[in-house]
Amino acid sequence: SRRYARDQSLNSEMTEAVLCEMENGADCKLFASGMAAATALVQTLRPGDRIAAPTVMYWSFRDWLILFCRDWGIDLAFYTPGDENSLAIVLQAAPTQLVWVESPANPTWEMVDIARAADLAHAAGAQLVADSTVSTPLLTKPIELGADYVIHSATKYINGHSDVVAGAVIAAKQDARWERLCMVRVKQGGILGPFEGWLLLRGMRTMHLRVERACQNAMALALHFENFPGVSQVIYPGLTSHPGHEIAVKQMKGGFGGMLSIRFDGGKARTAEIMGRMKHFVRATSLGGVESLVEHRALVEGDGSPVPDDLLRFSIGIENIEDLIHDLEQAVRG
Ligand code: PLP
Repeated sequence: SRRYARDQSLNSEMTEAVLCEMENGADCKLFASGMAAATALVQTLRPGDRIAAPTVMYWSFRDWLILFCRDWGIDLAFYTPGDENSLAIVLQAAPTQLVWVESPANPTWEMVDIARAADLAHAAGAQLVADSTVSTPLLTKPIELGADYVIHSATKYINGHSDVVAGAVIAAKQDARWERLCMVRVKQGGILGPFEGWLLLRGMRTMHLRVERACQNAMALALHFENFPGVSQVIYPGLTSHPGHEIAVKQMKGGFGGMLSIRFDGGKARTAEIMGRMKHFVRATSLGGVESLVEHRALVEGDGSPVPDDLLRFSIGIENIEDLIHDLEQAVRG
């Protein structure tokens, strides 16, 4: 049968089927972006509902969430990721419909125990959403850990080639909220074009190789610079020094992802100088592509950013690790 292209496209359906299977879900829908996916899920809430969200999360979504909840009468309660008791305390305070988890949390990579968060959410009568963009559909399986919905910015590892903007939501079951989400998607029109849907399928054919290599490169880089002169901290869930390492070992299988952050001695000015000397790392927003990127997040996020201004965020690509190490070494040494 022929359908209107805003309702669905065959290309997107093929991609959705693959993603659904990878995440062990009951259904999957693609969106025009990760933000379209995340905001549509929040738009299933009604005035008077309550959502618990982490203080550290993708900043643009956090900014939107604050405004949306204020304007539409939704109670937004923040919990501290990385603090075991914080979510439990927030959930005890009032009835809550949705709990949002991002693990590892962009860009300081706090880990949240998804299985524990799901237990807490369900005991409080809430549903759990896991933004698993950084963990990819390969390393962590939030639905197996108890999440009700998984979100991906498919712009990142799923596509992998930095040439598509896309998002996905996968549901553990097709419940009433899922029906409402599908309605929001089609009626508001935040759908993905068929060509982009096809490009995602192309990207996913190499995702296991890209993610494996990115994980290996990130681990090697983190270990190399952990005690390097001029470096004050390497933040990477794969390091035993990371406060969430035990959680990462439990819920990330096959690697700790390609994202890490490094803090440097000498504050904001020296950190900006170090970034300016990099030749191989491309200065750009985004993550999860084949090329390594670097970003001074505090500068990008502007006033009110919780990110320290001596921190650079790295998306580690699939290049030769010697080239990456050499470039960062010469940039730090100056
Ligand atoms: N979630 C996370 C963790 C992200 O890093 C991003 C974007 O960087 C998004 C969601 C939003 O995705 P998009 O840029 O595809 O709208």
